[in-house]
Amino acid sequence: MSDFATLPLPPHTLANLQRLGYASMTPIQAASLPLALAGKDLIAQAKTGSGKTAAFLLALLANLNPRRFAVQALVLCPTRELADQVTQEVRRLARAEDHVKALTLCGGSTMRPQLASLEHGAHIVVGTPGRILDHLERGSLKLDALNTLVLDEADRMLDMGFHDDIATVIGQCPKQRQTLLFSATYPEGIARLSAAFLRDPQTVTVAEPHSPTQIRQLFFEVREEERLHAVSLLLDHYRPVSTLAFCNTKQQCRDLVQVLKAQGYVALELHGDLDQRERDQVLVQFANRSCSVLVATDIAARGLDITGLEAVINVDVTPEPATHTHRVGRTGRVDAEGWAFSLASLDEMGRVGQIEHALGLTSAWQPLASLTPVRGQPLRPPMCTIQILGGRKEKIRPGDVLGALTKDLGHAAAQIGKININEFSTYVAVERSVARDVLAGLGKTKVKGRTVKVRLLEG
Ligand code: ADP
Ligand code: MG
Repeated sequence: MSDFATLPLPPHTLANLQRLGYASMTPIQAASLPLALAGKDLIAQAKTGSGKTAAFLLALLANLNPRRFAVQALVLCPTRELADQVTQEVRRLARAEDHVKALTLCGGSTMRPQLASLEHGAHIVVGTPGRILDHLERGSLKLDALNTLVLDEADRMLDMGFHDDIATVIGQCPKQRQTLLFSATYPEGIARLSAAFLRDPQTVTVAEPHSPTQIRQLFFEVREEERLHAVSLLLDHYRPVSTLAFCNTKQQCRDLVQVLKAQGYVALELHGDLDQRERDQVLVQFANRSCSVLVATDIAARGLDITGLEAVINVDVTPEPATHTHRVGRTGRVDAEGWAFSLASLDEMGRVGQIEHALGLTSAWQPLASLTPVRGQPLRPPMCTIQILGGRKEKIRPGDVLGALTKDLGHAAAQIGKININEFSTYVAVERSVARDVLAGLGKTKVKGRTVKVRLLEG
């Protein structure tokens, strides 16, 4: 049942939901609210726009005593925009007559008004990890009375390098509390985060129904000697921004990357011979769209959250039909179709047959000769990655880098992509056209009050 009335919510809350036009629960609400209202810790995963905010807010409001003037709930969000959205949803969901007060605390705003608002007291605080930490360090925010902690868009917070800030904030929360973690994806980091900070969490996932039309599978028959070249024919014809190419062996990965690089593509390899640092660096560059093709073995790609790609290429046919499904499932975005191309030699037709049989699919074949490359416009990734030698150890935060680039160097925020910060390095994605300027500028300006060494990563 997805009727809100099946939940243990008071009549006035149900009436308010009706007024808001929330006629029934969305799937993630139906899956998470019974558990959350029963006081369980939760890991909830569902795509953007699925109603996650109301899912955690209804639970948080149920734990709240409006007559107690203390911060009882904290919601950590990756950005100010998202924090503002959450605060707005609080205002809609909380009953006006209860005078529930919510406060947004984000970086980029001056401290003084935030300090004044905190003096007046709030029941719910919504903010970004860095600024919340600032307030905790100043003593302007106290969490002794906290009973609900929410990590919203946890995957994005990790992407943005907030792991340590989050850990420090959680360290200041009472141990007796309910923790709700919401995320659109479930990368490795989330598993570690929840293992460290959630208590016997229940996991709820609302899977994307992958309709067959969302992934278009095409098979191409190749001779062994044209296999690697066929990959660049596909890239030049379909021009996907991000492609994950699977090979059956490390050697094949190396060979393919060499061929692609020689032809001017930005391609990187991911396999078991890379150490953790190299691996992280490769994944950062691929995720921030400064590498067109990631060439990987199945083992290296296992457990990675690389999904929503424009294209997957099966450079070799896998002997395992289940592996084929995993590979192909990496493509297909929520809002767009994805391509899955498979290259098969005559020797591999037996494997193709097994895949067809296991998946109940009839493969569609197309000749390589049908591919018509767009000449004169080599496929380039939209972004470039700049590495700043300095990271969490130097207390660099995303806001410091963004500030240096926009305020000091005058770049538009729209030209700047993902910022990843690990212990010793910061990786900033910038539009390819301004990469040289940014590099030169960063070399001369200061980040977090000090000059930094920078370099351009070219795949
Ligand atoms: P998410 O956090 O999963 O990306 P949001 O919480 O921002 O999604 O919700 C997306 C939109 O759906 C919002 O405009 C919200 O008001 C609306 N919404 C949430 N729950 C319901 C519901 N049960 N019925 C109708 N609309 C809803
Ligand atoms: Mg959300």
